[in-house]
Amino acid sequence: MLLHNVKQWRVVVFSVFWGIYSDFSAALFSLCAPTGSQYQTERDFLLLIPYLLPVFGPGTRRDQDEAKCQDEDGEERVASLACGDVEGRLNALFNRVQAIQKKAGQFDLLLCVGEFFGTTPEAEAEWQQYKTGAKKAPIHTYILGAASQETVKSFSSADGCELADNITYLGRRGVFTGVSGLQIAYVSGREALQDPPPAHCFTSKHLSALVAPLTGNSKFRGVDILLTSQWPRGVWHYGNTPEVNTKFCGSGSVANLADHLKPRYHFAALEGAHYERLPYRNHVVLQENAQHVSRFIALASVNNPAKKKYLYAFNIVPMKALEASELVKQPQDVTENPYRFCSKDKTGKQRPSFNTTEEEEPAGQFFFDLSKKQGGGFRGRGRKREGDGRGDFQRDENKQPRRHPQPTGPCWFCLASPQVEKHLVISIGTHCYVALAKGSLTPLHMLILPIGHYQSVVELSSEVVEEMEKYREALKSFYKSKGARCVLFERNYKSQHLQLQVVPVPLDRCTTEDIKEAFMVQAQEQQMELMEIPQHTDLKQIAPPGVPYFYVELDSGEKLYYRIQKHFPLQFGREVLASEALLNIPTRADWRECKQTREEEEESCKQLRDDFQPYDFNMED
Ligand SMILES: [Zn+2]
Repeated sequence: MLLHNVKQWRVVVFSVFWGIYSDFSAALFSLCAPTGSQYQTERDFLLLIPYLLPVFGPGTRRDQDEAKCQDEDGEERVASLACGDVEGRLNALFNRVQAIQKKAGQFDLLLCVGEFFGTTPEAEAEWQQYKTGAKKAPIHTYILGAASQETVKSFSSADGCELADNITYLGRRGVFTGVSGLQIAYVSGREALQDPPPAHCFTSKHLSALVAPLTGNSKFRGVDILLTSQWPRGVWHYGNTPEVNTKFCGSGSVANLADHLKPRYHFAALEGAHYERLPYRNHVVLQENAQHVSRFIALASVNNPAKKKYLYAFNIVPMKALEASELVKQPQDVTENPYRFCSKDKTGKQRPSFNTTEEEEPAGQFFFDLSKKQGGGFRGRGRKREGDGRGDFQRDENKQPRRHPQPTGPCWFCLASPQVEKHLVISIGTHCYVALAKGSLTPLHMLILPIGHYQSVVELSSEVVEEMEKYREALKSFYKSKGARCVLFERNYKSQHLQLQVVPVPLDRCTTEDIKEAFMVQAQEQQMELMEIPQHTDLKQIAPPGVPYFYVELDSGEKLYYRIQKHFPLQFGREVLASEALLNIPTRADWRECKQTREEEEESCKQLRDDFQPYDFNMED
């Protein structure tokens, strides 16, 4: 490690520690009281660092304001904290985090596993302070969903969302990739003992649906972090022994999940115990190529009287950014893989395997119970919307899983809502519909919208995404026939119903490159950094739930993404397209300037419906 930018000797000292004790580029260091008093191994020596922290500090990050630091190799380390069950003791947790940050510098994120909310009046009162904004979490905090029936009510929706400033609920389960490239898979709650599972539970089917898209990719090596509430069953095999009753602890499905996802770090809670398992291999020695090791860490609950460790600090360089040789370095104390514990040692029972071809059951089913149990509080599937029209537009009402919350006020875009301007509708599918954009930028500027109420693309279920895709293709061919290329954009900011804007740009006006450049340049002028994201990236993996964003997709498939920070010009997509460099219709940038009369709209739509019909897949049968 180069020391040219080292200002303080304590950094040098830490670097030496770091060199000795970290097994791969993630330097990890502990912050809370260790339970043991003997330090026989190098690993145990790490536990000393909390006491050294005030003296040595963890290094280079310190002198920078930026959330992430780049070391000499240009690697991006994400300074992370993981926490066990919070159980509503928010003040205790955040005071601790604040104290740590004061000493060790700002961390990038805090990941909470296990039960986050408490059920006592005190816990409720504490939560209200954060919810109302009277207090603010001192760090980006990501939490899992309910792990018991009692806390289900603390989550207004089954989907991930921002619950308070800086506190984001990830959702029941999923995968997200941070801007740094750090990939995190997560599963809330406990394995169900009955079918259908209660709202705070999951089944092995849910987990296989989570795993399939990841492991289906031949380049999949593993995830950076796995968050589960429950422990994986049998994780202690071949390793050090935890202080839990291993006869009853953990979930077999979580073990299976961890085996498939190969997380570099796996955190869990719920057992009121602290356990750091020795790192384990993900490959069979001499039979398979070396792979990275996994570390399982279980954390106790916040402020537990026995002073067991509940907070764990680590730096991690996203796998994506690591050299293969660096990634697969094997620490000395690595053990066999606990999940491949020889089956003859068990009672001949085979461990269940994921059937990756299995179809995911409609997610809505899973949340149905919630709506019943919560009375009117949650509008789940199977519940009719009040006061909605019973027009033709409702033909697939029953097919549409409605696990998402309904709009809080009138929505202009829910197809079943009385507010929707039905005369603008061009085509209706099973899950989506196409409409002429009101005050359209050009005569063929259209919107693809989900029929039900979804806020952003990130929230869509797979069948809605699929149909949206079909509409995109149909519009692309339609525009092509008109000699135009297709530009799509979405703004998930100050909009409550997803609108995918589709605008044709005549081929002879400009190239795809021109369009890309116009977006880049105009974003830059407004101090916004549009990021190019890989073509086949699922937006879900980049935008954590609840995060506002803007993205544009070009006809080449290239995608530009901007995570909206504080302010965002609402008409940005239109402004760029209307600009001189592209369509050169600057006066049309604002839709309010382009309003047509109802008669004009009706006339345009009639024409458009006829023109689009040959490209409409709904017309095929
Ligand atoms: Zn809506």
